[in-house]
Amino acid sequence: MVVEELERWVDRRVASPNCDDRPPGTVIRLVVLHAISLPPEVFGGDAVERLFTNTLDPATHPSFASLEGLRVSAHYFIRRDGETIEFVPPQRRAWHAGLSWWEGRERCNDFSVGIELEGSDRQPFTPAQYERTGALVAALIRRYPGIDAIAGHCHISPGRKTDPGPFFDWYRFASSLPAPLAARSRIAGLFSGRFLPRPLS
Ligand SMILES: [Zn+2]
Repeated sequence: MVVEELERWVDRRVASPNCDDRPPGTVIRLVVLHAISLPPEVFGGDAVERLFTNTLDPATHPSFASLEGLRVSAHYFIRRDGETIEFVPPQRRAWHAGLSWWEGRERCNDFSVGIELEGSDRQPFTPAQYERTGALVAALIRRYPGIDAIAGHCHISPGRKTDPGPFFDWYRFASSLPAPLAARSRIAGLFSGRFLPRPLS
């Protein structure tokens, strides 16, 4: 039944090869929220899908050159209209966090689920995205009850990453979760200024 709830919030599946098995016995503890737009600040194209499936042609935009050879993915990608694409099933390990730590543990990919929101550090997210993110995270917590925290990439890779960025409203996100789930989750964006990324120079 809980599996079906999770399925409900996935509109499409696109298999990413950029994943592998979690270490044996891993309990999923954390949800990591990210933001991405490719090209930067441009929404609606297929470049993120291409990046996660290793089919992005670096010649199609100058900003893509630096992405050549990257092998990355996320479990989910939530577009501006709320459409949600699953690239990696949550029981597998997606490659979204890179160098990272959470509560003393390194390699957050091992024990987290990564959700990319189509967005940037410079533009507000959409109501449809908050709604879908809340529904998806709630379904994940019910499916994987070991999840007790939600953090941004900025919180687990401080100084290196800023996403989901200053326009992500953590209060709004928290209020999109059912109250009992919000109450039992530590939501990093709510509880500490020390996680704020360094200012962009
Ligand atoms: Zn990120």
